[in-house]
Amino acid sequence: MIMKYHTRFDAWNAESARFKDDYALDWFLRRMASITDSRILHGPVVINRRQDIEGVTAFMITGSSHIVLHTFPTNKEAMISIYSYNELNGSEIRDFIMHYFDLDIGSIKAIDISSQQEDFIQCEEPGCTRKAVKVWGGRKVCFEHYNHYRDIEIKPEFLDDDY
Ligand SMILES: [Zn+2]
Repeated sequence: MIMKYHTRFDAWNAESARFKDDYALDWFLRRMASITDSRILHGPVVINRRQDIEGVTAFMITGSSHIVLHTFPTNKEAMISIYSYNELNGSEIRDFIMHYFDLDIGSIKAIDISSQQEDFIQCEEPGCTRKAVKVWGGRKVCFEHYNHYRDIEIKPEFLDDDY
């Protein structure tokens, strides 16, 4: 079965003139393709919703994903949805969105939609949204957390606790 990763980023309190700028949003999506290490197959398509709720709806199709963006300048809100067959680097994507929309850390939220899939079991570490693939100490954990705990466990005894 092909793995599917789907994350939605909700942003608010965005103080940016880049909400409606077609060229800047085109650049934003192209940059997103390179961050997700994916070749653009179609787009970016950037549509200004002139008649309806003010803002832009944009999308792009890459070799391994679709990326969709909605902006709501009146409310200073934006939504970016990434559906990918490759695992996403959530913190790198979040940092880029924060930079583009000039957000502080309290004004963005990543929502892992993959976790709503039947076959998806989420890592039980607090705040972690990765897929659980191993068990450590009776808890289901992701590959990264499994390695983290295993590395602590197998630490040579001559090293003190600071390492
Ligand atoms: Zn984890």
